[in-house]
Amino acid sequence: MTKVFLKKKIQQRVLLGHPWIFGNEVGNVDGPVNAGDIVEVFTHQGLFVGRGYINPQSQILVRLLTRDKEEAIDAAFFHRRLQKAWDYRRKLGYVENCRLIFGEADEMPALIIDKFNDYFVLQTLALGMDRWKGAIVDALNSIFSPKGIYERNDVPVRELEGLPQQKGFLGAPFDTNIILRENGLQFNVDIENGQKTGYFLDQQDNRRAIEHIVKGADVLEAFCYTGTFSCHAGYYGAKSVLGLDISEHAVNTARRNAQLNNLEEVCQFQAVNAFDALKQWTREGKQFDVVILDPPAFTKSRENIQKAITGYKEINLRGMKLLKPGGFLVTASCTNLVPPSLFLEIIEMAAKDAKKKLRQVTFQTQSQDHPILWNIENTTYLKFLIVEVS
Ligand code: SAH
Repeated sequence: MTKVFLKKKIQQRVLLGHPWIFGNEVGNVDGPVNAGDIVEVFTHQGLFVGRGYINPQSQILVRLLTRDKEEAIDAAFFHRRLQKAWDYRRKLGYVENCRLIFGEADEMPALIIDKFNDYFVLQTLALGMDRWKGAIVDALNSIFSPKGIYERNDVPVRELEGLPQQKGFLGAPFDTNIILRENGLQFNVDIENGQKTGYFLDQQDNRRAIEHIVKGADVLEAFCYTGTFSCHAGYYGAKSVLGLDISEHAVNTARRNAQLNNLEEVCQFQAVNAFDALKQWTREGKQFDVVILDPPAFTKSRENIQKAITGYKEINLRGMKLLKPGGFLVTASCTNLVPPSLFLEIIEMAAKDAKKKLRQVTFQTQSQDHPILWNIENTTYLKFLIVEVS
């Protein structure tokens, strides 16, 4: 097996548990370098660090899978890891739906698996992980006997690894429009054409967090996707709910979700650009009791961070202006490039410009099936804030 030796300087980060090894952190390589192969990593002194997969085409040359010298990377390894991840989630109380594998946080770099009851959606985002797709599917079949497995590898990041974008069935075809249950409601999920894996499981606890503040309220939700927060608001007793999303497909699913939960009288949806609507309605002086904002990541790169800051500030400022005094702003950010402290700063800046006073109700993160490792910064990504605005 090819041996990769780390430079002395960077060892500490890797030795402290980070699984990524960048090309410029490697001293020398002993053996052939075939993209996607498993290699062994050693310190510059020759001590065993771990085993992982290599890809010279990627900025991240090696991603470690194990630090156990005795552990071989084979089909049994993937079965063990999936079983371990499932045992962990069951311990936390998950029964039907959960993110089963959250990449690095489950020691499975570049692998995402969402469990929607009996259906599984997976993403293999690096070549070395993609190679094991067969073993991963076998493990899912043997642990869960699922009704269907689907790959949503139609994501641009795969191209950095020299991988094609693709999606499709991993096994027998099935109806990819499924229904899942969450917090007493039901939601249509379009596994094939929905965003990302089809459904945002990471907000499942946060959706519950609006229960009390929406009672009898007029609620506006911008960036509503398939209307999950909106339907929760209706279910928890809102007087009216208006959900906005730029995607027709999302808005159509949101309407079907409202019907599915007998909320079509309360929950209305419009396919519009939320930036335009928020701007126009502030000008018109429209008022709501609760405004919910869960926009997409405004940037994918650190260089464009200012774009994200500007975007977050603008929508939150407008959201605050649309609130009656004493109303609640429910606001989220899903990019790890904006850390929690910066997110709060942006909200504070928006409040200052809107001449509003804030009182924090709660500040949360992603649900527990997306574990956070403090030394792997991209595992902390979701910020979810509720503030009273006056
Ligand atoms: N809250 C949702 C997830 C929202 S994802 C949930 O929990 O399921 C962000 C959404 O913002 C996507 O549905 C995307 O279509 C939408 N979006 C992106 N840009 C937009 C814009 N300018 N106006 C309105 N919606 C937009």
